[in-house]
Amino acid sequence: MPIPRIVGRDTRRTPRTGPDDIVSELASSARASLERSGCALGDVALAGCSAPGPLDFRRGIVHEAPNLVGMIEFPLAGRVSAALGGLTVFVDHDTAMAAIGEAIAGAAVGVADFVYITVSTGLGGKIVSGGRMLRGARGTAGELGHFPVAFEGPACGCGSFGCAESFAAGRNLAQQFGVADAERVYAAAAAGDDRARSLVERAEAALGNLAVGLANALNPSLIVVGGSVAEHQPTHVLEPMRRAIEARAFRVPAASVTVVPAALGADVGLLGSVLAARERAAGRGEWFL
Ligand SMILES: [Zn+2]
Repeated sequence: MPIPRIVGRDTRRTPRTGPDDIVSELASSARASLERSGCALGDVALAGCSAPGPLDFRRGIVHEAPNLVGMIEFPLAGRVSAALGGLTVFVDHDTAMAAIGEAIAGAAVGVADFVYITVSTGLGGKIVSGGRMLRGARGTAGELGHFPVAFEGPACGCGSFGCAESFAAGRNLAQQFGVADAERVYAAAAAGDDRARSLVERAEAALGNLAVGLANALNPSLIVVGGSVAEHQPTHVLEPMRRAIEARAFRVPAASVTVVPAALGADVGLLGSVLAARERAAGRGEWFL
């Protein structure tokens, strides 16, 4: 399937004043981008809305989202739908939307067993196994950023410690070095700063551990790695994953997996939402629902 063309876009800051304001901002942003593209709300068949999780994708309810003030057990799909005149709105986790996008029009087309990982501000993922997205008992499966990869380590935002995210996510790397942006940590490491170098080495080791675990536990044929940090620092993100799998995973799963960059780039959230909504409308969503 061809990658959809983006005909209009509208970017806004997420309100910090509660979910009601987030919904009205989402709806007015949707209306603004429709206007820009010369479409009417009545022309739209279905909308996709990606959200941070954990969430109930079947009912479109966000259980909790630490970075969105007040969004607890919040019926996001229903509320956005109501704000858009009853339009059908499909909510899913941002990493699920990205994995669906990569599966339909990106790096994982035709692949029945793959893992999607995003290494960005945070670290997240989704697992597709045997041609189905692994959802788990309550639909929250795939939080790969919170897979423990160390016996000790900095406290993680999830309440645990030693999570892959706490070592390798951009936000965490930047915080641990005392700067605003992970790119500055990589730049300092390249310039020979010992502290930056040890943080980067630790992030690489965490990603390597995660990759070996994924290869041995799931035997995917593809690990698709997206996100801004992965995009800008492939030698510090994809390479250590490849090296660790080759050195430490079982021979057969190691030989059957390829670690590749994501294909949809920075717009993966937008494209994934559209592709997922379109698949659902066409009745082809069984594998991810
Ligand atoms: Zn965690």
